[in-house]
Amino acid sequence: MIAPFFFLIATAVSRVWPSPGPGDRAHVTWLTADLEPSRFACRHCGDVVIDRRLLDALLALQGKVGRPLVILSGYRCPPHNRDIGGELRSYHTKGQAADIRAPGVPIMALFQAALEIPAFRGGGIGLYLNRKFLHLDIRPQRFRWIVPPRNALPNKTHSH
Ligand SMILES: [Zn+2]
Repeated sequence: MIAPFFFLIATAVSRVWPSPGPGDRAHVTWLTADLEPSRFACRHCGDVVIDRRLLDALLALQGKVGRPLVILSGYRCPPHNRDIGGELRSYHTKGQAADIRAPGVPIMALFQAALEIPAFRGGGIGLYLNRKFLHLDIRPQRFRWIVPPRNALPNKTHSH
């Protein structure tokens, strides 16, 4: 009975937020009990942009791991993204990326679960072993990177 409920909410949301293009913004006061879009809000200005496909994929992942996802970073307005040294065209600035953890779920288990979600399998997955979180985005092509644990040998890092 949960799936039809999500569908109704997602349908309603998509009318409020058409898929955002670069630079689009939306102010959101809407919450669900299952995933709070406010967690996506820019840490700097509170604006929220979420591509509905990202929201759907995160809900699917949350259902698969059976634990609430914690959103460490969701939407970033372009000035905030610049301030923290994010990539110029970061998918975070399009509402198409989230950095997440799932407390109680080992990072590799979360990674494996994300690979089973089509939008992430065919999109971007960054495995941050140093801080034990996953970057997920719904870019239109497969892209992977790994940031090693702190005590590992120096390696190329990738700012998301
Ligand atoms: Zn901001």
